[in-house]
Amino acid sequence: MDNANCFFISIPEQDIKKEKEKARELRKSRWWQQKLSAGRCYYCQGRFARSELTMDHVVPIARGGKSVKNNLVTACKECNSKKKYLLPMEWREYLNGVLIKPLAEELKETD
Ligand SMILES: [Zn+2]
Repeated sequence: MDNANCFFISIPEQDIKKEKEKARELRKSRWWQQKLSAGRCYYCQGRFARSELTMDHVVPIARGGKSVKNNLVTACKECNSKKKYLLPMEWREYLNGVLIKPLAEELKETD
């Protein structure tokens, strides 16, 4: 059955290594440190401590995403692991649910 392979773009292992290396370098950059200090998860917009935020590729390296600034975001651990295991469609549904809640909570706080 070759059909299953249609869902995956095969990225040469060397390229994956290169992108991961670039991501490691960017983690040390001022740009990334500032993003961590902002303390926001890009996906659920929740506020988190620096130690709770991870670097996430919006388009995963395995799907052809690059380690460039506009493809890298801060994500909380929960969002990061959910994104890994959900199908793109399920992930969108998760975001729809999660985005409404923090906004409502924030409105309450400022009240
Ligand atoms: Zn999140």
